[in-house]
Amino acid sequence: MNIEQFYPLFLQSEKVTIDSRKIAENDIFFAFSGENFNAATLAEDAIAKGALAVIVEQQDYENTAKNIFYVRSTLEFLQELAVHHRKQLQIPIIGLTGSNGKTTTKEIIHAVLAEKFNVQYTSGNLNNHIGVPLTILSIKPEHEMAVIEMGANHQKEIELLCSIAQPDFGYITNFGKAHLEGFGGFEGVIKGKSELYDYLKDHQQTIVVNENDPIQIEKTENYSPKITFGKASSDYQFELFSEEHFVGLTYQDKKAVSKLTGEYNFTNLCAAASLGLHFGIDFEKIRHAIENYTPTNMRSQVVKKEGKTLVLDTYNANPSSMNASLHNFITFEGSKTIIIGDMLELGDESEKEHQNILQLAQELGFDEIITVGKNFRNVNSSGKSFETTADLIEYLKGNKIQSENILLKGSRGIALEKSIDFI
Ligand code: ATP
Ligand code: MG
Repeated sequence: MNIEQFYPLFLQSEKVTIDSRKIAENDIFFAFSGENFNAATLAEDAIAKGALAVIVEQQDYENTAKNIFYVRSTLEFLQELAVHHRKQLQIPIIGLTGSNGKTTTKEIIHAVLAEKFNVQYTSGNLNNHIGVPLTILSIKPEHEMAVIEMGANHQKEIELLCSIAQPDFGYITNFGKAHLEGFGGFEGVIKGKSELYDYLKDHQQTIVVNENDPIQIEKTENYSPKITFGKASSDYQFELFSEEHFVGLTYQDKKAVSKLTGEYNFTNLCAAASLGLHFGIDFEKIRHAIENYTPTNMRSQVVKKEGKTLVLDTYNANPSSMNASLHNFITFEGSKTIIIGDMLELGDESEKEHQNILQLAQELGFDEIITVGKNFRNVNSSGKSFETTADLIEYLKGNKIQSENILLKGSRGIALEKSIDFI
């Protein structure tokens, strides 16, 4: 099956999905074979649910249903279809990568740009070699712009995602200590994330630069076109301010305060506001977007519970975001307990990084430190430590946390949010 032949069918479809539970009438279903199911059965089911077309990998059985298409690789066909679709689109696409803050920044950029345009954007965290093509394929004729999150945990991944999304604008949220294992250390992270810059430079597209970040400055020196913020000489200047626990920015003496906690969100807001101003959106509208964006996704979220303030940052953790989170939380008024979960995927650096974070937590002087996970347990044998969130829950059933403020932060695999109901 070739892409050009298939494309008209795609244009008639409602959506593209790889999840057999989500198939609805007129969808295109890509059947990725898994351990527990075979693509042929999935294909028949999809047709029964009204799928317009089903893509399966070549198998050694015969099938006569007319809208089941065989391809050599389902993944490659999905990616090639996305590339073909991207080429037909005449809209600006903004690509985002970085170690921390991609999803948050993507959400705020979307909120800002949506004040003026019909913007498609990555749903949730669908930021990999499957999620990016699916996002591109979800762009419809009515969309005027798109914001695409690109995640990576090894070299050449951003290069591939750029070749699919072909961004006209790009921003790297930060270079941090995340996925050190796959990238080969911090230098590897810089190289891997910079593949976005490499693409933009090769295609003379616009780089959004935080001029407060020396790595971003160095990597984009003497390059244009750029959109800059972060310095007095930058294109756009914003000042940081906080109200209660919430971070905000001022622009030309006008304020906008978000519902996000953590100073690190200031740069995320700045990037979004810069893009908004670049695309001709009045600051009044940008303010409206920033003030109305409410995180519900376990990232930098502040929740009040029985008179206590809970900071929920349980979606993810790595040394950079943990560090930022602890520094933010120490500024909260009143007594403070931190419940920190393991930072996974750190490879050889793991023990040292857990040690560093524990030491930082002790130095900052929280009233109570609770750790969850084997990695923290190894370095916190004398402190309050639990191997799993289930063990933490058992403890919480018999022991109420006394502090007025409680921070929960850990890697996805630790799933600290399961303990919230027991706090
Ligand atoms: P993932 O790799 O899971 O897709 P992500 O890059 O999309 O992560 P977010 O989910 O937006 O990141 O944020 C995760 C956490 O990272 C936040 O809750 C916060 O603690 C931290 N964080 C957000 N922005 C920044 C930033 N600019 N610098 C450092 N840490 C940040
Ligand atoms: Mg994300």
